[in-house]
Amino acid sequence: MENTTTPAIPNPLAPLEHETIFRAMVDSVRDYAIFLLDPNGFVITWNPGAERIKQYRPEEIIGKHFSVFYPEAEKLADKPGFELKMASATGRFEDEGWRIRKDGSRFWANVVITRILGAQGQLIGFGKITRDLTERRAAEQRFRLLVEGVTDYAIFLLDRTGHVASWNSGAQRIKQYTADEIMGKHFSNFYTPEDREKGMPQYVLKQAEGHGHWQGEGWRVRKDGSKFWSSVVVTALRDEEGQLTGFSKVTRDITDRKQLLDELQRHTEELERQVEERERTNAELEAFSYSVSHDLRAPLRAIEGFASALKEDYGTQLDETAHDYLHEIISASTRMNRLVRDLLEYGRLSRIEIIPQTVAVRPLVRQLLHEGPAEYKTATLTGDKDSSVLANESTLAQVVMNLISNAFKFHAIGVAPQVEINVEHTGRGLVRIAVKDCGIGISPEHQEKIFKVFERLHGFNEYPGTGIGLAIVKRGTERMGGKVGVESQPGKGSTFWVELPSSLEKGI
Ligand code: ADP
Repeated sequence: MENTTTPAIPNPLAPLEHETIFRAMVDSVRDYAIFLLDPNGFVITWNPGAERIKQYRPEEIIGKHFSVFYPEAEKLADKPGFELKMASATGRFEDEGWRIRKDGSRFWANVVITRILGAQGQLIGFGKITRDLTERRAAEQRFRLLVEGVTDYAIFLLDRTGHVASWNSGAQRIKQYTADEIMGKHFSNFYTPEDREKGMPQYVLKQAEGHGHWQGEGWRVRKDGSKFWSSVVVTALRDEEGQLTGFSKVTRDITDRKQLLDELQRHTEELERQVEERERTNAELEAFSYSVSHDLRAPLRAIEGFASALKEDYGTQLDETAHDYLHEIISASTRMNRLVRDLLEYGRLSRIEIIPQTVAVRPLVRQLLHEGPAEYKTATLTGDKDSSVLANESTLAQVVMNLISNAFKFHAIGVAPQVEINVEHTGRGLVRIAVKDCGIGISPEHQEKIFKVFERLHGFNEYPGTGIGLAIVKRGTERMGGKVGVESQPGKGSTFWVELPSSLEKGI
């Protein structure tokens, strides 16, 4: 019968081989100095790592006391002896510090000394593992110097529970504590009592822990109790296993910026309030003038009507002077009627809803010239043939008509008006409609105010009008999202222009 029990797997390596393999392994390590010391600290083995780091060949160092690796001062203080004592008492001793190579140069070492006991528990020596951390230490030092030198930012570390674990000069400058005063204290000291009560410090750490970091602004308190507005970033720090080790905190004092922003905010609010008030007053005034204009119409019609009736029914009974008076009454009321009509139109322009539509400019201008008085047919039309704008057609017609009628009106006596209307893309997504005349022109100091209601530069008898036309041009254009302007020289003529968004693709 076959034996079904599994035979015990024999250990393929004999104890002697174990030692050989272990020695081969130690001998292949180059990044660590691994060697043995006898109970008194004399070197008994030496690996290539030790040779590379400390520069001694095995035959140069085996049998020598390990204190040769220590700087003179530490040798005098018997640091090597102390370390062996600690290792033999506790089993293990770890240290970081300067050590000396054979050529006398220093390196920053991480050292672990382990006690080795014999079968009866007697001390038979020490294992020593040394790593050269000079590079890492230099990098850390550079980083520390960098952080230390920053004075505009408070950069410091907190432990897991929020106690200050490092402090830079920026932190001292901003928060006024020296490192001695604040190290180990809880960072909630920097918060206002109200924020502390609300649990803000704990909230910040929780957020940073949960999301990796927390960022915010708020009032913080300096050592002397004064407050500053800070911008803070708290970052959770974790080790390789992902365990939280603490937090880094970077704080900036942005009180100046905050004050500026607050000031700006105050100004903006004040401005908004003023604008609102002005708009309200304007709206009230406009409503008032609208209703006045509206209410004026009926009595005006009565004056006009009765004056005409008087002339017709009783004309034969009136003498010449009475006829002159009647004529004055009728023409004055006609003028006033026109004024009221224009004012109502001006008011209407503020209230109507402007729905932009595509309007082909040249056909519209051509139609206006065609429908106007006979002299309008002498005007020339130049520029882009197929420009179209986004506008309200009737408002645009009103705007252009006012400009054309002014261009034909304001010429010197005895000089025939010459008017040219040019339509062109400006290259910024806009179309410019310019009405040019060779008339009397406008001196620079008047060029702005003529766009206001009732601003006229001439007497009614010289050039009749209401003084509302250009105000209608300006308001109508602006309500369609455009701009108006004039270029003019007294005695040479004027060019009034309006610019409106092109209906073609933006940017053309
Ligand atoms: P109105 O034409 O009824 O007087 P407007 O508001 O249209 O009112 O124009 C205001 C004033 O601007 C005019 O009275 C005139 O003095 C001046 N003005 C307008 N257009 C021209 C022009 N093309 N040439 C010279 N002056 C002009």
